[in-house]
This record gives sequence, structure tokens and C-alpha cells, in this order.
Amino acid sequence: MTGLPSSRLRNLPSVDRVLKTPLAAAAVQRFGPQATTHAIREALDKARAACRVGAAASEAGDLAADALARLKAVERSSLRPVFNLTGTVLHTNLGRALVADEAMEAARAAALGAVALEFDVETGKRGERDDHLRALVCELTGAEDATVVNNNAAAVLLVLNTLALGREAIVSRGELIEIGGSFRMPDIMTRAGAKLIEVGTTNRTHAKDYSVAIGPATGLVLKVHTSNYRVEGFTAEVSAHELSSIAKAGGVPLVHDLGSGTLVDLSLYGLAHESTVREAIADGADLVTFSGDKLLGGPQAGFIVGRKDLLAEIGRNPMKRALRIDKLRLAALEATLKLYRNPDRLAERLPTLKLLARPAVDIAAQAARLAPVVANALGYAFAVDVVECRSQIGSGALPLETLPSAGLALHPLSGSGQALEALAARLRALAVPVVGRIEKRALVLDLRCLEDEAGFAANLAGLSPRDVDAIA
Ligand SMILES: *Cc1c(COP(=O)(O)O)cnc(C)c1O
Repeated sequence: MTGLPSSRLRNLPSVDRVLKTPLAAAAVQRFGPQATTHAIREALDKARAACRVGAAASEAGDLAADALARLKAVERSSLRPVFNLTGTVLHTNLGRALVADEAMEAARAAALGAVALEFDVETGKRGERDDHLRALVCELTGAEDATVVNNNAAAVLLVLNTLALGREAIVSRGELIEIGGSFRMPDIMTRAGAKLIEVGTTNRTHAKDYSVAIGPATGLVLKVHTSNYRVEGFTAEVSAHELSSIAKAGGVPLVHDLGSGTLVDLSLYGLAHESTVREAIADGADLVTFSGDKLLGGPQAGFIVGRKDLLAEIGRNPMKRALRIDKLRLAALEATLKLYRNPDRLAERLPTLKLLARPAVDIAAQAARLAPVVANALGYAFAVDVVECRSQIGSGALPLETLPSAGLALHPLSGSGQALEALAARLRALAVPVVGRIEKRALVLDLRCLEDEAGFAANLAGLSPRDVDAIA
């Protein structure tokens, strides 16, 4: 430290001098003069503050390096790719389904060029957005008609607002769900303008609970898939099939919110059976709603399928325009749905299904290959064991069903829970953040969703064993 703060401040280079350094010149080439000048000003502000508390004046080259680092940090996408090693395949906070290559190609073509989105190329007249998917969705579900909106929450909102505005919507108390991220069925009903009529109790709802509730003010009966929980023990629920006859007798539509909504029998792929959209339609629901980015494995979207007259009414609701999806997702959905036409190849082409159906032995072999790589990257402070674990489907599909999987358990040889948190933070700070889960005093990396093994290993080079030793 030399001289008074004022003299150190005077020794700081000017913005112009920093701009003349080779590093700053390169930054100008890449990021433009305005952004570079702005970053240099920020670097200088920080250097001035440091001078005031005793630091020496920074050199022009150091300031340029600081500015370049700032520019790079700003440029990096905020929506960063991560390694999802949480064991939850459809992780809502990590973006749910991974879409198929075919879907991305279709979305890319739709994004880069004009498409016949609402245009009938045969007649040259105006077409309808729903025309692109209607036939395909009806073929795959057995429904009469179909439409697609922004997500399943929007689908439920639109159905309620169309069929139960100012009227009553009847739901079992056992099905008044809250899905993470503030989707609460009673709140959606209120916002849709429907009056919620709760029937039955939390654990038991009977046919007569519904039939006595149906009256002249009833807009619809709603059945909701209890996606993220299950009521067990002394329970009674009215099946969709029975409920449909009750609704029919009362002259009101039955709407079934399936949530995840699979289009295929998952037991064909070694998973537990989850009721399909086709089954819900066959059971007599007048409308069925489900998501595009859960088990279906496409982009975010919400489907409403079922009776033609009801869908025509929904089509006339001005809210539909506010909830519609864009051409990119429409293109990606069409391509995704087409893959379902060939169920034999579905598990190889649809990434979500491929990950869900991945055999545990395959994952265990990968864990054995990676254990020494991870141990090497972590140094001596952590033990790395190959472990059996259980993955979850996620997003409310088959909430109690877990899939046998394998992974790596990292545990501190000494130290505490804090060391685990610190290690988890280090892994999240890597160039491609690695997200695992803390379980039984270990940080578990479930490898079910790890496809880019080489990329994962290379990414670990960002860990310095010395750093890791320091946290344990
Ligand atoms: C997930 C889910 C929703 C919400 O669907 P999004 O596609 O996330 O909007 C609604 N209802 C049920 C039963 C669900 O499982």
C-alpha cells in the first residue's frame, strides 16, 4: 500500500486507457463498445472503492480482465442447463419433460419460417390453430374433439370458466388438491367464476354425496387426479365410470382433470399402470384435461379433449385467446404426438419415456464407471459409494410409485451436515450445475437421468480437490 487514498485514486487509469488494452479491444469486438465501456466503469468503481480502504491502484490490464469477466457473466444464459441427478425425472423446477429431437426440429422450422398456422392451404381461407392437432389427438385418445392451451392449469381454468361461470362446480373433498407453485383447485375455481360445492369427506366420498348435490345451479361435476398424494386406509371414492352415470342422470357434464395424462399403457414399458386419457374418455368423462410436458413428454401445454358440443362452447370463450399456445409449441406437440403412432419405437425416441424405462442394471453399471472419476475429483475428504436408490416419476404421476435406480452416495469422512450442504453448493457452482439430493447423511447423485457421461466427467474438472478438502 502506497501513499494516501487520494494519490492511489489518481493512479487509477482512465476508461480510455483501459479501452486501449488488447483485452479490452477483444471485448469491444465481441460485446460492442457501449457494453464494454459500461463494464470498465463498473470495474473502475470497484477499484476506487478498494483504493479508499487501502488497496493499491489497479493496472489497466487487470481492469480490462475484470470488465471482460463481467461481460461474460452477463452474457451467460440465465436459463442454464443443469445435470438433473435428483432422481425425479419430471422435475417441475428443472423444466419437466425433455422433448424429442423430432419435436425440436419441428419447432425450429416453425420458428424460422412462416407456417400455415391459421391458414387453410387448400382453400386459401382462414384456418384454425386447433386443426393441426385435432385428428391426431382424437386418434390417440378416442375423443370426439380436442383443443390445446398454455398448460393444464389453463385448461382447467378455461373449462370451469366456460361451463360453470356463475354456477356450481361439484368436487369431492378428497380431491381438492394443491399442486406445487400455487395451483390450488379451490382458488382456480373462484378465479374461474365458479362456486365450489364440496361433497363427501377427506377420506370417503359416496355416489349419493354427488347425486344429492346436483341441482339446477350445477355447471359441472369435476373429478381430479390426486396427483401428488394418496388417501389410504378407510377410504371410498366414486369411480370415474360410476360418476359419469351420476352426472348424466343429473344432466350435467363430468370433467376429469387427469393431471399427467398418459397416452400409453405405461405397464408396456415396465412401469406401473396409470390410467390413460383413452380410459378416462371410455369411462364416460365428457371432457378430460391433461398436461403436455408431464408423462406425455412434450413441451408445456394443456389439452382439453372430449365432447364436440362442449369444445365448441369452449372455442367461443374469449378467454381461450388469452390462453392459446404459439406455433413453436404447436409444431413440437404435433411431432411428439406422431411418435405415439409407433409404440414399438416410442421408448427409444421419447426421452422422458426412455429415462423412465431405463433399466437399473444399466444405471448401476454407469455408477460403477463414474465412482472412481467422482472420487478422484473430490479428493480425500469424501467417500464415494455406488448405491441402489429409488427414482420418482415426478409431476404428480404415480406419486407413490418409485423406480429402482442406482447412483453415487457422497459422504464426508469427517465433519457434518454442513459439509454436505457445502459440497452440494460446490457442485451447483460448476460450469454446468450438478443437482443431487441430500438423503441419510449423504449427497446422492441418482444417475437415471445422466445421458452425457463424458460431459459430466469433464465438468467435474471445475472442482479442485483442495477446495473440496477445505469444506469437509
Ligand atoms: C400438474 C397438474 C395440474 C397443472 O398442470 P400444469 O400443466 O402444470 O399447468 C393440474 N391438475 C392436476 C391434477 C395436475 O397433476
